[in-house]
Amino acid sequence: MGVETFITICIYTMAAILGLCVGSFLNVVIYRLPRGMSLFRPGSHCPTCGYTIKWYDLIPVLAYILLGGRCRICRGKISSRYMLVEIANCLLWVLSVWVFWQQSPIYALAAAIISSVLICLFFVDLEHMIILNRFSITVAVAGVAVMLVDNTTVWYDHIIGMVAGLVVFMALYYGSIAVLHQEGMGLGDVKYAAAAGLALGWQRFILAMLVASVLAAVVMIVSNRVQKADKRTEHPFGPFLALGTLVALFAGDVVIDWYIGFLFSQLI
Ligand SMILES: [Zn+2]
Repeated sequence: MGVETFITICIYTMAAILGLCVGSFLNVVIYRLPRGMSLFRPGSHCPTCGYTIKWYDLIPVLAYILLGGRCRICRGKISSRYMLVEIANCLLWVLSVWVFWQQSPIYALAAAIISSVLICLFFVDLEHMIILNRFSITVAVAGVAVMLVDNTTVWYDHIIGMVAGLVVFMALYYGSIAVLHQEGMGLGDVKYAAAAGLALGWQRFILAMLVASVLAAVVMIVSNRVQKADKRTEHPFGPFLALGTLVALFAGDVVIDWYIGFLFSQLI
């Protein structure tokens, strides 16, 4: 085995293990941040019986499987979301290395951070209907790093993306107040859209919005069929924005290249 292969294996292994551990921490963020609780004190405890969870019961995924998704003391059920978040973060961190490490390790790190924030944004908005400013700020900061190292776009593509996100979502926000006399989305969505536009650049941002809109439309049609017409529940848009951003971040260049190639093949 060559030195290079060995180093590559080490990098992927590190990304997977760190991804699992950070995923475990994201569960704390998802539960505590929207409730205004401290992230570090007190230590994790069982929501049913209050038992302070020992370090060996916090080992990502493994502890969950060994305990059968239940508290060691009271056998109360622990949401499968905990394991889901850990696995999702692990996979996205490995994906970040796979897609971006060659271009720049900084790009890989920024993509990993954005992925983790998006996992939190997804679950917090789903449950609390709010996109926290901290999530958008972190995406924006990582977005500046992406802007500096991304060699498939020019720096001002990212500035245009930010302005586009701000303008389009401001228009949607005030438009729905003027026309429907209600908030179609929150200001949190507007701030997030600007941050996502900055991180992605306008080309990938368009793709992200397309994916988010199509997913939202499909889910709304399906859920309105299932529920009675007079009992429509409100859907937060954030989870769709998060999924759209992930698709555009990791597959954006491939999809855009394919689409441009497709357009040219039609012209000739
Ligand atoms: Zn318990």
